[in-house]
Amino acid sequence: MKLKGIVASDGIAIGPVYKFEKVELEIPQDKIEDDKVEEQLELFNNSVKSYINFLQEKINEKGSQSEIFEAHIGMLEDPFLIESTENRIKDEKMNAAMALDATANEFIAMMSSLDDEYLKERADDYKDIRVQILNRILGLKSADLSLMKKEGIIVAKDLTPSDTSTMNADLVNGIVTDFGGKTAHTSIIAQTLGIPALVGMQDAFDKLENGQTVIIDTENGVLIVEPDDELLAKYKEKYEKLEKEQKILEENMFKKAITEDGKEIDVFCNIGNIGDLDLGLSQGAEGVGLFRTEFLYMDNDKFPTEEEQFEVYKDAAEKLEGKALTIRTLDIGGDKELSYFEFPKEDNPFLGWRALRICFDMPEVFKTQLRAILRASAYGKVLILLPMVISVSEVEKSVEIIEECKAELKKEGLEFDENIEVGIMIETPASVLIADELIEKVDYFSIGTNDLTQYLLAVDRGNQKIADLYNSYHPAVLRSIKRVIDASHKVGKWTGMCGGFASDTKATKLLLGLGLDEFSVVSGNIAKIKDNIRNTSMEEAEKFADKILNIDSAEKIENSL
Ligand code: PEP
Ligand code: MG
Repeated sequence: MKLKGIVASDGIAIGPVYKFEKVELEIPQDKIEDDKVEEQLELFNNSVKSYINFLQEKINEKGSQSEIFEAHIGMLEDPFLIESTENRIKDEKMNAAMALDATANEFIAMMSSLDDEYLKERADDYKDIRVQILNRILGLKSADLSLMKKEGIIVAKDLTPSDTSTMNADLVNGIVTDFGGKTAHTSIIAQTLGIPALVGMQDAFDKLENGQTVIIDTENGVLIVEPDDELLAKYKEKYEKLEKEQKILEENMFKKAITEDGKEIDVFCNIGNIGDLDLGLSQGAEGVGLFRTEFLYMDNDKFPTEEEQFEVYKDAAEKLEGKALTIRTLDIGGDKELSYFEFPKEDNPFLGWRALRICFDMPEVFKTQLRAILRASAYGKVLILLPMVISVSEVEKSVEIIEECKAELKKEGLEFDENIEVGIMIETPASVLIADELIEKVDYFSIGTNDLTQYLLAVDRGNQKIADLYNSYHPAVLRSIKRVIDASHKVGKWTGMCGGFASDTKATKLLLGLGLDEFSVVSGNIAKIKDNIRNTSMEEAEKFADKILNIDSAEKIENSL
């Protein structure tokens, strides 16, 4: 039997099934009398405190999930979550379990309804928080992966960060879950720990039995159940070969990426917070090509102040010790909303009031961020990156505002890097077509292929129904990339790429051949991309790219890669 799934973390895993099952919680539905309100409030608050203590202990152990647990503490400090639950107890006379259940479900529904995959997955954090606090309110002990005593492949409907925090990674050969997508916690944890994983398997949990031998094959995105001896031997051989290759990749991950004919290429990472930066540095990143600062705004209950932002950017700049930190200015709107700010309803939010357009209409928000970025530039090599540009005048206006901030800081005697580089993201067709003019106004380009592909092909990047049409191998995308890189090189400037296409290990040689100077990628792929770069020459890559540029369809291009 073969079951198909979504590849969450690459590799081959072989072992017996270890089924991990959690019981559905039964929430008492009785309303309480007035004289029980205080008691239920105390029960709720003590349960929250007990979970925070548990999280704190986990953070002190400095495991791979500390960042997630810190995020959970942040969510529990959100007064809205606490107050809504307390109000339900006080005003609606719900018992503590019922009140928390209602509040948490409200958060989960809100996060799940968003279009953004990353944020959608954050609903999982609230699911985890819900179960953990309910367990404490109801005095239940949750099922726990520390009971797994032998090597095996975990098969579960879903795994939360609290579940994975109890597993002994040395015993876990692989992970299979019915739910979850590429950016789910299970996927991120599996990638971090280097454990092969398939998610979104739908009904694998019900189909599999404890102890059955299974093989995870992420190359084909399948789980093979009870293979015969011949197939098993074949996979064992493949597994050993992969192990050897992985060892070599890891040994070389901190070495520079230089092509066979001597061109040095920057391999950077994309981050959304300091935890991502730690991970990137531990995987060999030589800088940050994209800091998505919107998470700083989204994980907050008000617009973050200059001081709050400055602390985060400075911390990142210092950690990088002189390596590049490319900070993208606020890219909000579209499907990225803020709990504390009402966006107008729009028919086409992706073509609507977003990113720079919002920043120009709310100059105080834009300037607060620019001042924080500039001040952090005194502590390392910071670059400014402007998103969603469509015109020269937008760049001129942004530069004007940056200069205004510099003048203010100078007057106030605050330090910053006078020569800070300013670049723009190339993610709209308009910016591709006027790249020659735009590059005159900035120091560099960074291509955002996620949006560029969506806007060039008129294919919504989050719409599952047309996901097969969303393809960065489309000749229109590749020819745009070439045009943009050439425009920057013509005037002695450079182009990087921070969109997901840079992380595609099949595309490295092609992108090199198109002249890309910097790859900003997901941390898990740094070692492989560096290895790809080392194994080709520019001459060979350029010839290859020329050939590819003449092919007329995405399918043919993908096949020839
Ligand atoms: C992009 O559009 O390629 C990009 C890197 O930005 P984001 O994915 O944050 O929209
Ligand atoms: Mg984008």
